[in-house]
Amino acid sequence: MTATDLTADGVVWDLVPLLPEPGEAGVVALLDDADVIARELAGARGTVAGFDPGGLAQFMQRLADLEDLVGRAQNYAELDFTTDTADPARGALMQRVEERTTAIATQLLFFELEWAAVPDDRAETLLADPQLAFAAHYLRSARRYRPHLLSEPEEVVMTEKAVTGRSAWQRLFDEQVSAITVDLDGNAVTLEGALARLHSPDRAVRQGAAAAVTDSLAPNLRTRAFIMNTLLADKATDDRMRHYGSWIANRNLANEASDESVQALVEAVQFRYSIPQRWYALKARLLGIDRIADYDRMASVADTESQISWSEGTGIVLDAYASFSPELADTARQFFDGWIDAGARPGKRPGAFCAYTVPSHHPYVLLNWTSRQRDVLTLAHELGHGVHAYLARPQGIYHQTTPLTLAETASVFGETVTFGRLLGMIDDPQERLALLASNLEDQIATVFRQTAMNRFEDAIHNARRDEGELSIEQFGEHWARTQTDMLGEAVEITEGYRTWWSYIPHFIGMPGYVYAYAYGQLLALSVYARYEEQGSEFVPRYLDLLRAGGSLPPEELGKIVGVDLSDPQFWDRGLDIVERRLDATEQAAREAGRL
Ligand SMILES: [Zn+2]
Repeated sequence: MTATDLTADGVVWDLVPLLPEPGEAGVVALLDDADVIARELAGARGTVAGFDPGGLAQFMQRLADLEDLVGRAQNYAELDFTTDTADPARGALMQRVEERTTAIATQLLFFELEWAAVPDDRAETLLADPQLAFAAHYLRSARRYRPHLLSEPEEVVMTEKAVTGRSAWQRLFDEQVSAITVDLDGNAVTLEGALARLHSPDRAVRQGAAAAVTDSLAPNLRTRAFIMNTLLADKATDDRMRHYGSWIANRNLANEASDESVQALVEAVQFRYSIPQRWYALKARLLGIDRIADYDRMASVADTESQISWSEGTGIVLDAYASFSPELADTARQFFDGWIDAGARPGKRPGAFCAYTVPSHHPYVLLNWTSRQRDVLTLAHELGHGVHAYLARPQGIYHQTTPLTLAETASVFGETVTFGRLLGMIDDPQERLALLASNLEDQIATVFRQTAMNRFEDAIHNARRDEGELSIEQFGEHWARTQTDMLGEAVEITEGYRTWWSYIPHFIGMPGYVYAYAYGQLLALSVYARYEEQGSEFVPRYLDLLRAGGSLPPEELGKIVGVDLSDPQFWDRGLDIVERRLDATEQAAREAGRL
């Protein structure tokens, strides 16, 4: 096991194949070509209402060509930026791409508006034509924004001003957070690296890391709070002008989820807050402390935490995928040839993600590998997104991407299969307990913590609308309260923790997004439960689901694998699985002689 293999240092992605020639010249060439198509398509302005099926199909095909060019340029610039956010040249290229793609999008805004203005029966007649199958669901669902669209000149102003408005604030936030360094025993480490210490089994290490993180969040806290306030107000303005009834309504519409189903999800999860509370009370006994504090929540319950090298972790994940479906494993294997950027470096964006890019190319995965067991599951998770994106490529640009509510299906599935594999490899009762506990905690983080974060967002968006600009103390108050609602008496929320909302990128970049993690996780667990019931006969249906991408509404996609999203008991089914995992963890703790 070499040092490089532990840190995955040499594992970098190759973005150049996105471009016709390397570097900025390649990006410019793509955008020049896109410009030509945009001018051609702009000639259709004022004629959309008169399109016949063939004319509409031709327009959508050219638009797809344009989206492919723009998507390549955007993905290159953005992905290149995420691996070194401190490099001014990469920032400048990204900004340049954004300005040019906005100019292109502005020329084509008429289409969305004219298409939305086409009467319903006429639209349905057009979409029933087989020539439009490649764009039908996309075009149908684009019309759901009808009541919320402004006039074309207003939409042009909104789009152009967003570049120096919302997007610029979001970028400033990203740069502020990426620049945070944490002083750990005299060493400057990334926020990501410091947060990884919270998994340490040693309480003093966790306490020290948490205090250092809190210290690192103090500089520029006012700036980050100001950015948050500005974006809360910006969203309130947008929602008012577009007639959205609540702060979350446009996110629900984007997710093709009804306000009622999201409300039902949030209430179902809140109703089971006893699950995290029961776990953290149990965890206090395992850790041998009276009551755990916020910084203890991620503590490893094992005595020692063994490190896993990149090559070892890779092997485990690919074996797990192969045990489920060799085709899926073959798809995943391709990612290890320049599609993954794995090492953690200063200036690199924290966390992990999969970028779909465009259907004519392949997806990329970004990780921050810290050689922990959980990194193996993160790799399995992001590869799940990756194979989903890859298998849905034949759907084309309009239907490759799933609705957000189903976006986590393949990732959670891949993670769950890998988890079973990892557990099967371990005989030692202590290690089994550690793995079960850490997986349970991931479930709790995804389902319960994200729901509590949704409650935080709900509180600050509404407070900003009702009471005006929020102080740092008020943000801290809402943060602590919504965490306490979930954790009850089981966990102490310390004073320092009150500023920890201030580095979370989702609140800034994708308001309202976080509930989709809980939604997607519970949905994916239900899909996994189908696999447990049906075994290998389930596999082809599952692959059909992945290949379908986003070509159908969420309920129809669910039906492919026999999941019924309209069932009112639906959420409880997933929550029952989480509770059973808690039971299994408690059982493992007994077998390990820890209770
Ligand atoms: Zn994911």
